[in-house]
Amino acid sequence: MKTTCQVAVIGGGVVGCSVLYHLTKLGWSDVMLLERSELTSGSTWHAAGGFHTLNGDTNMAALQGYTIRLYKELEEITGMSCGLHHVGGITLADNQDRFDMLLAERAKHRFMGLETEIVGPDEIRKIAPITNTDGIIGALYDPLDGHLDPSGTTHAYAKAARMGGATIETHCMVRETNQRPDGTWDVVTDKGSIHAEHIVNAGGLWAREVGAMAGIYFPLHPMEHQYLVTDTIPQIEAIIDSGGEHPHVMDPAGESYLRQEGRGLCIGFYEQPCKPWAVDGTPWEFGHELLPDDFEKITDSIEFAYRRFPVLAEAGVKSVIHGPFTFAPDGNPLVGPVPGMRNYWSACGVMAGFSQGGGVGLTLAQWMIEGEPERDVFAMDVARFGDWITPGYTRPKVIENYQKRFSVAYPNEELPAARPNRTTPMYDIFSDLGAVWGQQYGLEVPNYFAQEGEPGYETPSFRRSDAFAATGREVRAVREGVGINEVHNFGKYLVTGPRARDWLDRIMAGRIPKPGRLSLTPMLSPKGKLIGDFTVSCLGEEEFQLTASYGAQNFHMRWFRQHQQDGVTVENISDKRNGFQIAGPKAREVLAACTREDVSDMRFMDVRRMVVGMTDCIVQRVSYTGDLGFEIYCDPMAQRQLWWTLWQAGQPHGITPFGMRAMMSLRLDKFFGSWMREFSPDYTPAETGLDRFIAFGKDADFIGRAVAEAERADGPARRLVAFEVDADDADVNAYEPIWLDGKVVGFCTSGGYSHHTGKSIAMGFLPTDRIADGLQVEIEILGQMRKARVISTPPFDADGARMRG
Ligand SMILES: Cc1cc2nc3c(=O)[nH]c(=O)nc-3n(C[C@H](O)[C@H](O)[C@H](O)COP(=O)(O)OP(=O)(O)OC[C@H]3O[C@@H](n4cnc5c(N)ncnc54)[C@H](O)[C@@H]3O)c2cc1C
Repeated sequence: MKTTCQVAVIGGGVVGCSVLYHLTKLGWSDVMLLERSELTSGSTWHAAGGFHTLNGDTNMAALQGYTIRLYKELEEITGMSCGLHHVGGITLADNQDRFDMLLAERAKHRFMGLETEIVGPDEIRKIAPITNTDGIIGALYDPLDGHLDPSGTTHAYAKAARMGGATIETHCMVRETNQRPDGTWDVVTDKGSIHAEHIVNAGGLWAREVGAMAGIYFPLHPMEHQYLVTDTIPQIEAIIDSGGEHPHVMDPAGESYLRQEGRGLCIGFYEQPCKPWAVDGTPWEFGHELLPDDFEKITDSIEFAYRRFPVLAEAGVKSVIHGPFTFAPDGNPLVGPVPGMRNYWSACGVMAGFSQGGGVGLTLAQWMIEGEPERDVFAMDVARFGDWITPGYTRPKVIENYQKRFSVAYPNEELPAARPNRTTPMYDIFSDLGAVWGQQYGLEVPNYFAQEGEPGYETPSFRRSDAFAATGREVRAVREGVGINEVHNFGKYLVTGPRARDWLDRIMAGRIPKPGRLSLTPMLSPKGKLIGDFTVSCLGEEEFQLTASYGAQNFHMRWFRQHQQDGVTVENISDKRNGFQIAGPKAREVLAACTREDVSDMRFMDVRRMVVGMTDCIVQRVSYTGDLGFEIYCDPMAQRQLWWTLWQAGQPHGITPFGMRAMMSLRLDKFFGSWMREFSPDYTPAETGLDRFIAFGKDADFIGRAVAEAERADGPARRLVAFEVDADDADVNAYEPIWLDGKVVGFCTSGGYSHHTGKSIAMGFLPTDRIADGLQVEIEILGQMRKARVISTPPFDADGARMRG
């Protein structure tokens, strides 16, 4: 056995083999896969082998499309069969919400180049004749859906990898992973030690155990899952005899997926009485056995399936496959460099290895070899969870995810499991004020405050929700008087030390402010993509506070650590510094009433330390609402005291608490972009307009500079613009296609109702050469074409008089 390699991939399931193949495909050949048994000895061997592109996250859907297209390439390279059956698939909708979801998915697919279509009951019966369409409104048909041979496909990946120079050691159990001081790894196996520069954890069912060898907790959990294969079914035989093949049918109402298997059918269920498996750890001796049949937990599902597919009721069961596979708390894979570790990569938590395995392998190989993936993969980035995550949180979330696998995913939905988890000192005060809570990165965040007669629960919807009136009331309170909310959902970092300014000048593309001032700056990747959108506050020549998205903490800290430098310390203080923002025309009067400092001369983008009430605070004059506003930061231990001070001082001005729903409406009035909507690693500064914050004149070689300069010289091919939309009861959410002259020319990034202006506003990308103020386009919202116009002047405070005044 080799004793050194550049990469040791642990685990020979479909994911490990895909990673290995992609590493060779992108140019690294000194790579090795270590498998404790034979290839496919985890979840992989008992998979049903189905694949599909449908995924709520657009980039995940694109990677699923990549995975599916890859199989032909694999067959060609290796001469091996993946057992491909591109039979197409339909996803049924039995109610309007489900149908809305499919319409939204279909719309997204237009600019992704996926040829899906919406079909009605008559067509459903033609495509999938065994379906009882009673109560079905329609379905989404995807010609790319199909199934394959899990073992053949995994071995094809393995062969393609070997052809690229990779080595595969089977019956080679990894017992320890020990890091050397230089960041490389000693991988101790039954067959001896291997010195590897990098490790990839593709341990699947045992990913938790493999992670623990390096002291890492991976938030994933195995669930039991069962599918049945029937005896021969005459109707299926007839289809086969006429040269056809029955397509896949996903029936979300029955939580089932169904496909042809031989001359019969195979049907699997995501049943509600589901069961987690191996809660305290996957036994090493588990491998090629199945779990005992458990019909009890799928009784209701089977009965439902008999009604939807009556041929099943007549069919005998030939075999039952019941096995475990892993899920992360949100059902997406855990991929990428593990935060806080050097040269340790994750490729685990992949619950749909045959839809996602290719995309996971490609992404990880790009990240390792090229330094960053080609697209925004935050939805599957291992850094999307923070240090707060524990097995106690993961387990209920995984159960919830399993149960909701086929549920409608609404844009405004707040999932209830494992909540409340993390709360600030304001939790009970805000609850008493009617807070209706959402969740961000484990933290409870008020979405709005329900008053008498307003709903204490926001009904999930694709259309304007029942929080509409409360949101409008909060927006008016800000624009007409003063609103208050917490600054708890900002990621906050303290950067200190003699080299702090130099470091920031290199890490951030924008200008680093002088003491007492703030600046806004993008943070760029080496390829010039947006990886952060920061406010930098200079508290002293060697002390800076950074604020950005709360959900990106681990993502940003990983980047900061990767670029750490002597003479500078970066600390994540997101939960150590908290406070409030007050915003609206009366905000200055409220602040003035709470401090002996003169705040009348505080300019827009000033930052000062001052005592507010009895609390030491950092006060900065800036507000994401686009209004006159102040962010006031303090020690969380003093936060309640600060609250009472501001609250009492605000009473004469009708101070009103406001939540995230109002915030998102307010920011649209000024066309302010939002992280992971307008600003993400999918986009560049020039495309999004953030290039106006790049300090091209500064004497620092900031990361991404060369690409940003080239882009400035050439100009981007597309740009972010705002639209006023003739919407009805549904506004833009994300990724709706933008039509011009009968063609899809762009897509939306976000949108919503501007309660202040009474208009539906959207933001999205158009080709630069088509952009003109007033340009008329159409935006497809839930299957309906809505007229929209490009608007270049923000409908609120266009000259900034209010914000800066
Ligand atoms: C009943 C059932 C039906 C399914 N149907 C589908 C489907 O239709 N479509 C779909 O896409 N997905 C399906 N899945 C899910 C699919 O099986 C998984 O997504 C996929 O197999 C995950 O692959 P993996 O490589 O991540 O993990 P695994 O297959 O679990 O592979 C991990 C490998 O790592 C090895 N390993 C672990 N620890 C060590 C160690 N210390 N040293 C060396 N080797 C080690 C193991 O032996 C194993 O071979 C199904 C799963 C089940 C249970």
